[in-house]
Amino acid sequence: MLRFESVTHVFPDGTRANHKIAFDVPRGQFCVLLGPSGAGKSTLLNTVNGLILPTEGKVVLDGEPVTSSNLAEIRRRIGMIHQQLHLVPRLSVLHNVLSGLLPVTPTWKAMLKLFPIDQQRRACQLLEEVEMEEKQLYRRASELSGGQQQRVAIARAFINDPDVVLADEPVASLDPTVSRHVLRLLRAASRQRDTTVLCSLHQVEFAIEFADRIVAFRSGEVVFDDLPSALTSDVLQHIYGGQEGDLVGAETLVEPKAEDKARANGRVPTPAE
Ligand code: ADP
Ligand code: MG
Repeated sequence: MLRFESVTHVFPDGTRANHKIAFDVPRGQFCVLLGPSGAGKSTLLNTVNGLILPTEGKVVLDGEPVTSSNLAEIRRRIGMIHQQLHLVPRLSVLHNVLSGLLPVTPTWKAMLKLFPIDQQRRACQLLEEVEMEEKQLYRRASELSGGQQQRVAIARAFINDPDVVLADEPVASLDPTVSRHVLRLLRAASRQRDTTVLCSLHQVEFAIEFADRIVAFRSGEVVFDDLPSALTSDVLQHIYGGQEGDLVGAETLVEPKAEDKARANGRVPTPAE
């Protein structure tokens, strides 16, 4: 279980990004962190892998608090998927997935691409799960579409058999149809292994569609923590209301654009849409 114990983080410039965040994420849950830009989602995700050590409170993973002294061990148990992919463009799809093993593989072996055969098998199996075809395994990551790259990033995040996968806006740069596909595969990979996923999203409709549970943020505080079905328009107004710039996102997402709906239904939008 992943536990946030009254986590507060104030950046050196005085910005309070998280305020007394306290909740538990049980093993295997697909938990979405929802909220407008600047609400504190990335900061909280970064406290789990110790990229940020909170100014107050603590993060506890299966009874073990994340501290500066156990970071290497904690990170070995965590997979990460970024918005900006972070694949190595020149490397093949397969090698990118295997690079997720670097924390546990000596650098010299990794440089010589000496990954044991069982790890290579595991990488291939994960790539198959995220629906990458065999012929794509030796293509360079830079030759793939955004959706394909994000599927490779999912495979890489799971290669170490992590307890927790952190996904920070994993579909922010993808169109709605591809986003759904990627989120479906991410959820399937987590279900398959009972891996906890903490996934930040700003798209309300994806949160409702994919989350087991939604924890919503506003100005660094949790303002909603419940099943997706409990997310009413009043709650949404509270999460997104009154924050400059964020209503644009909320409106788009509560009522998707005709163009996006068409794509989501597998149609090419008409000019009118
Ligand atoms: P989200 O991921 O929900 O968009 P963030 O966690 O990135 O939100 O940011 C939360 C708040 O912290 C925002 O006000 C943001 O501007 C601020 N912030 C993020 N990183 C830093 C930083 N390194 N220094 C100062 N303020 C930061
Ligand atoms: Mg963010």
